[in-house]
Amino acid sequence: MTTPPPANPFDRIESALADLDRRALRRRRRVADTPCAPRIRLDGRDVVSFASNDYLGLADHPELASALAEGARRYGVGSGGSHLLGGHSRAHEDLEAALAGYAGGFARRPRALSFSTGYMANLAILAALAGPDATLYSDALNHASLIDGARLSRARVRIYPHGDTDALAAMMAQDGADGPRLIVTDSVFSMDGDVAPLPALLALAERHGAWLVVDDAHGFGVQADDGAGSVAALGLRSPLLVYMGTLGKAAGTAGAFVVAEDTVIEWLIQRARTYIFTTAAPPALAHATLASLGLLRGDEGRARRAQLQAHIGAMRAALADTAWGVGESVTAVQPVIVGENDAALALADHLLAHGLWVPAVRPPTVPPGTARLRLSLSAAHLPEDLDRLADLLRGCAPRRNGAA
Ligand code: PMP
Repeated sequence: MTTPPPANPFDRIESALADLDRRALRRRRRVADTPCAPRIRLDGRDVVSFASNDYLGLADHPELASALAEGARRYGVGSGGSHLLGGHSRAHEDLEAALAGYAGGFARRPRALSFSTGYMANLAILAALAGPDATLYSDALNHASLIDGARLSRARVRIYPHGDTDALAAMMAQDGADGPRLIVTDSVFSMDGDVAPLPALLALAERHGAWLVVDDAHGFGVQADDGAGSVAALGLRSPLLVYMGTLGKAAGTAGAFVVAEDTVIEWLIQRARTYIFTTAAPPALAHATLASLGLLRGDEGRARRAQLQAHIGAMRAALADTAWGVGESVTAVQPVIVGENDAALALADHLLAHGLWVPAVRPPTVPPGTARLRLSLSAAHLPEDLDRLADLLRGCAPRRNGAA
């Protein structure tokens, strides 16, 4: 008897890749030769970009570039180790103190912990605060990093309908009180731009003694007069709040942080595997982020937030008189819902052919049948950029079946 030849391990992934092509789901990367800004050179062409999360236009700010260079001169390039084994520098320490003072107004004894990415911060929070005996209540449209954190925690996961606090209240009442509980939500939803009902969620958390974990990736730096984020904007206060902000979006640098009561942060330092078992981010980056906080909190941040608000209002007004209509979002993320994947891609290609880059977002990032253009506004856009986009969208009305 002859043994069959071993299966070719490439077959499986090659056929899966072909399947992605058939369903218009294959993703590709476009290459930018210029800094992140509204005007970029992309795949060799000059385009206006509506793709970045650089909401305030700080990613290419000269002060941040000099702070990064000055940080590298002062601290070198690599941190050389994990935070617990030699990699924690004065720059990280200063950044954490500044973040606690900025975004920690909700806590009695605020303390901050910096992370290399928001993805890692979310895994850390959920895996450290929830274990197999916990119940975790998660909004149906939460970001992938929260979904993965929930899986990693091994907690029982209950998904409540998007933004539906009545449904959540009913679930929590039904579940009884065994084990720790966590309510977990994006504050500004990353693909829809709408906002979570944070006051009602906090009331529920307080009623049940549950943590309220708020992922403010798209709110930090933008929401509140001083940019301190969505929780500060609402004036919420509670020791049960665990706040995650990212630094690679409005702050214009990279990384993330958690602010919470001192005890919660101490627990993360002891238990968060994505904090403990990874090399600390370069101290120079922390130094640059400190400079960014200065901009965010000062007059420049205020002026840029006002500019962004003006753009959001103008874009919504312009979209309202196209056949695409506007959704609920009053934030910098304005989705143009198309429906089918190939139609969303076709619309994105059409805009790109006219020099505007607005990426198509498809499942699994968004639910099937809701493929969209994710239009992301920045204070650095010019009014004529918005006009050009609105004009083009006006010229291509949706098909009757919802496709372009
Ligand atoms: N949460 C949300 C809501 C996000 O949109 C993102 C990034 N797109 C993250 C977390 C992850 O942050 P980071 O990019 O710093 O890993």
